[in-house]
Amino acid sequence: MSAPVFASRLRRIKPSPSTSAADRANELRRQGRSIVNLVVGEPDFDTPAHIREAAAQAMNRGATRYTLMTGTPEVRKAIVAKLERENQLAYGLDEVIVTSGAKSAIYSLFAATLEAGDEVIIPAPYWVSYPDMVLACDGTPVTVACPEADGFKLTPAQLAAAITPRTRWLLINSPSNPTGAAYTADEYRALAAVLALHPHVQVMTDDIYEHIRFDDSRTVHLLEAAPELRARTLIVNGVSKTYAMTGWRIGWVAGPKAYIQALDKLLSQSTGSCCAVSQAAAAAAMDGDQGFVRDSVAVYRQRRDRTLAAINAIPGLSCRAPDGAFYLYVNCAGLIGRRAPDGRVLETDGDVVLYLLDSEGVAAVAGTAYGLSPYFRLSIATSQDVLDEGCRRMARAVAALA
Ligand code: PMP
Repeated sequence: MSAPVFASRLRRIKPSPSTSAADRANELRRQGRSIVNLVVGEPDFDTPAHIREAAAQAMNRGATRYTLMTGTPEVRKAIVAKLERENQLAYGLDEVIVTSGAKSAIYSLFAATLEAGDEVIIPAPYWVSYPDMVLACDGTPVTVACPEADGFKLTPAQLAAAITPRTRWLLINSPSNPTGAAYTADEYRALAAVLALHPHVQVMTDDIYEHIRFDDSRTVHLLEAAPELRARTLIVNGVSKTYAMTGWRIGWVAGPKAYIQALDKLLSQSTGSCCAVSQAAAAAAMDGDQGFVRDSVAVYRQRRDRTLAAINAIPGLSCRAPDGAFYLYVNCAGLIGRRAPDGRVLETDGDVVLYLLDSEGVAAVAGTAYGLSPYFRLSIATSQDVLDEGCRRMARAVAALA
């Protein structure tokens, strides 16, 4: 039998590092090890009851067939209303399209727009999937390291230096996975001033964590701060994180009609329309009572405060307070060069993460996966008990280093 042969686009990409880290933690658990899993990137809450109920009703009403590729009128109305209500942005029903999660929205936008060699500016640390999605669509990811000293945010000077005639997209994720950093209106205006000089650069905003904010701040959208960018900005969002609906797979894109039509064409020949029941559930989530969002954010906030304090009390570790999302991006520069009890020297954040897993069973993801080292990412989308135990174990592991 001949060996399977795959396309070069598949050879260019790697499996998601956060999925691999979760798989390794689960494997160790199966072997009987006590594992504190701080890898997961999804809310630990159940989807609120009124949303599940709306899905059941939709199913029983016969929402069991294909829908329009762009999405049911009901869910598109809910998206348009949400953009108006929460972001003060006006979009028409023909300026939004529903996708199978935000992930598929981003991938499809790249697939619809990138030619070989087109560049996508990705501020680092970044969500692990961005560079691989660009590579899978024949593009060239241009990652720009945004150090902690700049709040992990892209500066106007960095943006100006990264733009070339081949730049197609600037990708903005605010609040960010993995750092939780969120841009302010002033910071957006400064970036927009650079973009004004480069009309060929388009912007994709990944707003998936917009509601998970601490310190009573509201997430400002780029287009609120710089409405002049509307014609070249594509908004990506979804219900996964806000409403604990990761498994329902509903995301969307909002933007100029020509892009929506392009996605309609591409998706109609690939994924087809999204799950009808999930679309009804997503509409109920956006149109319904928002109490769950307030309550879950209050819980994330408590966990952030308590876990942040515990991490910052461990000598050699430090963490900047995230503005939002549900991760801590922990600086482990203070552990690099230290020696583990078995004699191994920790040379990289990958070594630190392996050491935490081997010595104390704490599973995290190394900063190399996000393009800025030496750091590791912890998820706070898990119970406070688990987080407290994780911090105790990390303190013990660090104390054992020479
Ligand atoms: N963007 C970011 C920054 C994410 O962290 C994730 C989920 N890990 C997604 C998009 C994907 O969201 P969805 O479940 O809607 O595909």
